[in-house]
Amino acid sequence: MVQNDTQNLYAEIARLRDELAQARQTIHALTEKLDAALDGTGLCLWQGLPQTGELQVFNLQNFQPGDMAPHFDLWYAKLHPDDRDTTVAKYYDHLDGKTPRYEAEYRTLGSDGQVTWLWDLGRVVERDAEGRALRIMGAHFDITQRKTAEADIARLAHVDPLTGLENRRMMLERIRSEQGHTDADIGVMTLAMLDVDHFKQINDTYGHEAGDQTLIAVGQCIQQAVREGDACARWGGEEFLLLLRRTRLEQARGVAERVLATIRHHQEIVGDARIGVTACIGLAEWREGESIENLLRRADAALLQAKRNGRDCLVCSD
Ligand code: GH3
Ligand code: MG
Ligand code: MG
Repeated sequence: MVQNDTQNLYAEIARLRDELAQARQTIHALTEKLDAALDGTGLCLWQGLPQTGELQVFNLQNFQPGDMAPHFDLWYAKLHPDDRDTTVAKYYDHLDGKTPRYEAEYRTLGSDGQVTWLWDLGRVVERDAEGRALRIMGAHFDITQRKTAEADIARLAHVDPLTGLENRRMMLERIRSEQGHTDADIGVMTLAMLDVDHFKQINDTYGHEAGDQTLIAVGQCIQQAVREGDACARWGGEEFLLLLRRTRLEQARGVAERVLATIRHHQEIVGDARIGVTACIGLAEWREGESIENLLRRADAALLQAKRNGRDCLVCSD
C-alpha cells in the first residue's frame, strides 16, 4: 500500500516536472515572440514595484543591458533635469490615485550624454487593502525621431531658407516681446531697416544665382558687424531688419554705420567676378506706446530718405 502511494507520488512529481519544463518552454517561446514583435517598434514594456522601487524592463529595444535602470532611483537619475520634476509628479499623482493613468513625455540622458525622448505610459495593476500601489505596468515609446522632426519644423518656421537668418515672423515676435517689457530701460529699442542698393542690377548683370550668393554674403556681413544680442532678420527680397535692444538712436547709429562699412568693404567672388554692393539703412527708435506698424513705417520712411540722399548711407527718423 505504502509502496503504491510512494510510486504514485514519484509519478506525480515526474508529471509535474514535465509540466514545469513545458511551461518554461512556452514562456521562453512567448518571450521570443514578444521580443520579435516589439523589435524595432521603439516600444518597451516595464513593470515597477513602488514599495521597493524595483523596476523591470521586459525588452531593451534601443537600450543596451545596463542602460535601463533596474531601480526607480536609476531611472530618476537618467531623467533630463528639465523634465525630472514634471515627470515624477505625474508618476506620483497616478500612484496616489489622482489620475486614471500615468503618462509623460520626457528626455533621458545616456551615459554619453545622448538624449532620448520617451513617451511613457503606465497604470497601477495591483493595490493593497489600504489602496497603496503595489505594482504598476507600462510601456514607453522612443519618440526621438518625432521630437527631432518637430524641432526642425519649428526652427524652419522661423528661419529664412536662403540666408539662414531669422525670418519676418520671428522678428515680429521678437519686437513684440521687446515691447512687452515694462522696465523703462529694457523697453528701449531701435530698429534698423536695411535695403541693398541697386540690387536689381546685380541680378541683371551676374544672374539670379549670383544675386542669391550676394544676399547670403550681405546677411553674413550684417551678422559680423552687429553686437551680441542684436537680432537680424531677412525682412523680404533684399531687405533686412535689425533689432537693437536697449539701444538709443545715437548708439544705434554707430552699429548701423559699422554694418554699412562691412557691406561696403566686402567683395563677393562669383566665378570670375568680384561683386561689391552697398546698402542704405533707416533707423527708428521705439517710442513708448507706439505700435509696431508705426515704428516700421518710420524706419521705412527713413530708409527711403537715405535712398534719396544718394545711397550707401543712413538716415535717422526723428
Ligand atoms: P534700390 O537701390 O532703390 O533699392 O534699388 P534695387 O534695385 O535694389 O531695388 P528694386 O526694388 O528695384 O529691386 C530689388 C531686386 O531684388 C528685385 C528682385 O528681383 C531682387 N530680389 C528680391 N529677392 C531676391 C532673391 O531672393 N534673390 C535674388 N537673386 N534677387 C532678389
Ligand atoms: Mg527693396
Ligand atoms: Mg534695393
